[in-house]
Amino acid sequence: MAKAVGSSPTESIAIMTTTSIKDQIRKLVDLQVMDIEVYRLKSELRDRPAEIEAFKASFEAKKDKLKSLEDQLKAILVRQKGDEGELKSKEEAILKADGQLFQLKTNKEYQAKLLEIESLKADKSLVEEKILLGFDQIEAARKAVEVEKAVVASYEKEFQAKKKEADGMIAVANDQLKVKESQRSRLTPDVRPDILSRYERILQKKEGLAIVPVKNHACGRCFMHLTEQLIHEIKMHDQLVACDACARLLYLEDDL
Ligand SMILES: [Zn+2]
Repeated sequence: MAKAVGSSPTESIAIMTTTSIKDQIRKLVDLQVMDIEVYRLKSELRDRPAEIEAFKASFEAKKDKLKSLEDQLKAILVRQKGDEGELKSKEEAILKADGQLFQLKTNKEYQAKLLEIESLKADKSLVEEKILLGFDQIEAARKAVEVEKAVVASYEKEFQAKKKEADGMIAVANDQLKVKESQRSRLTPDVRPDILSRYERILQKKEGLAIVPVKNHACGRCFMHLTEQLIHEIKMHDQLVACDACARLLYLEDDL
């Protein structure tokens, strides 16, 4: 296949005489029908995995939150166990001091022991308050863990369903893309190489839409009003005519 890019003007003219522009536009319109689908399928194949990744990230964040709530609960339980141990040792110390009370000889020693017992009892009631508070904290922390567990479970279910759906759609889109690309490759040899490369450049820059019909004297895509002169040029079929605003190629549906 001869490459038109960089070919000399005489070569271009020679090719021009062998293929009519009207015929080329007809082929580009057929190609565009395929390429709309190709573009749609490629977008889907690009966007779907990204959507799933984004959902997975928020699912992972929920799991992290659950883990940190579970760690908090564990820390409270450890502290509570420590406080309970401290309470036991205070109770034992009080019992021991109570037992010693009657073995003391002097009033001074007796009064000192009484003070010691009072102080132990004050410490004990502080520890008891801490333990009571701890029970409330444990209950609240357990509740928070349960709530987050339910959130994670529902996210997991949703994630698996979304992933399954996306995997299915990706497989279908890949199949369809193969079919479309193969159909497309049967059309391209009939398009002049310079025209094909211009069409494909526009296709890439313009969201998969390179050739559009004129609708009510305007570009079928960007709706820019077209002059009588431009429409006349399209009708002449001497050359490819592009929209001044969006650079897409133009054709008249009734004219083909
Ligand atoms: Zn336009």
